[in-house]
Amino acid sequence: MFIVEPIACLRDNYAYWLTCSETGVSALVDPSEADPVLASASAHGRTPSFVLCTHHHLDHVGGIPGIAARFSDIKVIGSSYDKGRIDGQTETVTDGDQFTVGGISVEVMLVPGHTLGAIAFVARAGGKTAVFTGDTMFLAGCGRLFEGTPADMHKSLQRIVALPADTQIYCGHEYTADNLRFAASLEPSNEAITRAIAKTADIRSRGLPTVPHSVTEERAINPFVRVQFAELRHNLALGAEASDVEVLGAAREAKDNFR
Ligand code: ZN
Ligand code: FE
Repeated sequence: MFIVEPIACLRDNYAYWLTCSETGVSALVDPSEADPVLASASAHGRTPSFVLCTHHHLDHVGGIPGIAARFSDIKVIGSSYDKGRIDGQTETVTDGDQFTVGGISVEVMLVPGHTLGAIAFVARAGGKTAVFTGDTMFLAGCGRLFEGTPADMHKSLQRIVALPADTQIYCGHEYTADNLRFAASLEPSNEAITRAIAKTADIRSRGLPTVPHSVTEERAINPFVRVQFAELRHNLALGAEASDVEVLGAAREAKDNFR
């Protein structure tokens, strides 16, 4: 089995510990900054053997040099596309590559859109699945299209939600409350969104992270996944004839301008 623990970084970023329960071997996902990660390593008695980088943005990899200075044997795994764009990267991986973190099997999924080389890490052990999506998929949202196209993002999100229904999704930022406000503006009659808004407000009022959601939850609330639904299309001034990619593009543009 494995356990996942979020580490709050910067203003609203999450780094994660992914730890094999049997062997104690740990990986750090997206360490934005070194200080909170090193403090958490001391507090939990964890030694990271790997750093897993979803993409090259500094708010996901900025902590690597400080972490590598403290844990010298660490392997820093990032996308082949990001070679030269991640300070401290030691290994490059591409779509379909697999490796193990103790008894956890980890598979690399190329998910372009936010960046061209963006990867998600799919962790499997003891019949459980978790996916670390970086800034490609957020809970109830998706990342901005800095390098990729709506077609890239559509394909990437559909690959993520094709994982088993109970897969736990861990994303790079705590944007859930804002994302749900936008989701509700496109699908005001979607009761799953209404319920998620109440649940999110309760969790955040207690200062807790909203991660993870399951694939089932995201299929019910995420407007960038729900591109085929009529109410959402109607509120983007698109009809049944629009392609799913067009709807995703329109939704992304609307979110970029949503206040
Ligand atoms: Zn990013
Ligand atoms: Fe980010």
